[in-house]
Amino acid sequence: MTRLSIGFRLTIWYLTVFALAQLAFGLGMWLILRENLREVTRTALAGQVEDVRRFLESQPSSQPLAALRSAVTDEYSAESDGDYLEISDADGNWIYRSPSFSQMKLPQIARAAMAVPAYIDTRIGDKPFRFISQHIDIRGHDFTVQAARSISQEITTLDRFRNYLLLFAPGLLVIAGLVGYGLSRKALMPVDTVTRTARTITGQTLNQRLQPLHTGDELQRLTDTLNEMLERIELAFQRVTEFTADASHELRTPVSLIRTEAELALRRSRGEAEYREALRHILLEAERTTALIEELLALARADSGRQALNIQPLDLRAALQELASGWRQVANVRGLQFSERLLNAELRVLGDASALRRVIDILLDNAFKYTPAPGGTVSLNAEEANGRAVISVRDNGMGITEADQHRIFERFYRVDKARSREMGGAGLGLAIAQWIVQQHHGKITVESTLGAGSIFRIELPLASKEVSRELLPQQS
Ligand code: ADP
Repeated sequence: MTRLSIGFRLTIWYLTVFALAQLAFGLGMWLILRENLREVTRTALAGQVEDVRRFLESQPSSQPLAALRSAVTDEYSAESDGDYLEISDADGNWIYRSPSFSQMKLPQIARAAMAVPAYIDTRIGDKPFRFISQHIDIRGHDFTVQAARSISQEITTLDRFRNYLLLFAPGLLVIAGLVGYGLSRKALMPVDTVTRTARTITGQTLNQRLQPLHTGDELQRLTDTLNEMLERIELAFQRVTEFTADASHELRTPVSLIRTEAELALRRSRGEAEYREALRHILLEAERTTALIEELLALARADSGRQALNIQPLDLRAALQELASGWRQVANVRGLQFSERLLNAELRVLGDASALRRVIDILLDNAFKYTPAPGGTVSLNAEEANGRAVISVRDNGMGITEADQHRIFERFYRVDKARSREMGGAGLGLAIAQWIVQQHHGKITVESTLGAGSIFRIELPLASKEVSRELLPQQS
């Protein structure tokens, strides 16, 4: 089922609310008008009763019924006030009855109800009247006064008012609907524009952006957010494309070296020693290629979020001691001085043991690679400072310029491409090291002076309750 557009739905809601408001308003106004009109006739009728009271009070108390009758008749028969009036005494004898009342059947009201003015609307013949019926006490004598007024004018006014309301309401509703729809269309128009532009954005046109709005409302926030998201996607896309291009480039070099070596070896027949030498070169390149593929895979898995680290509490000092003994032998072979200064106590951190070993291996491997043999020294230190484990790898090798220090953690970045390649590096080691350290909520930094050496420092949070909670979500 296709849903109605937001603009249409908004208009329907708006119209429903508007119609209800109009109904409540019209009904309210009609009731107020009716009450006011009622009040006008009621006040006039109450005034008429009051007038009768005053007149009766002005009459002598001992007056016989006939004399009172003729006095009242004299007073009221000539006046329009007397058109619809009946006055009777406690025994039900009438004292005055207007001629028009003599043919009418007046409403019968219970005596008790007439202690206060009792109002009744009734039709006599085809004419609507409002009656007041009230007992009045004149010097201990009880009289009943009934007076009436025509309310046809009142009813006509109310009917006319209702008709006007019924006449204008649909018109207003139509106008409100059209204006509401127009306004919602106008307000939502940018959404259509955004949708149209978004549809045209593909993998090749990721540099496109949605037209920025300056409305300061939700729509502006939406387009800004979408543009920010596009920026992130473009950047990620760019990184992937660059990564693929760089990786292909890096892989092409060893493969073409292997090919060349094999082609040269096969060009003419050679002695066993030459074949061995060629195969040794081929093997070396194949090993480098395997290492490179391993690194590429590690980064690809890191990017895809599938590289899950196995975080466990571990003693980093023990892991470093184990590593150091291996590197001491490498140092011997390469003719470098290697020393380690590790603290005496345990260094408990939460981490993936093999990933952290890999980081130290990368740093030590670099230190050995970029430190010339005679006189070269490399040291591995571990200490505890400010609640953090600090491991540093120091060398007195070639050093790195200030500008390069900012870039060496980038993928495939090598200060001296040829030299690094010769050493077997593709510029991925530090990028992998940085990713691993960041996954441990730690940080890796470099301090270096060109020609004097470098210090790579890793800081990791020590295993504490808070860190455990962050790194090991399954622990409470
Ligand atoms: P690579 O595999 O090429 O060593 P890395 O990512 O490990 O790649 O390092 C990037 C670059 O940083 C290296 O090519 C090198 O130029 C520089 N570098 C890293 N460690 C050192 C160091 N200890 N001394 C001097 N330069 C270094």
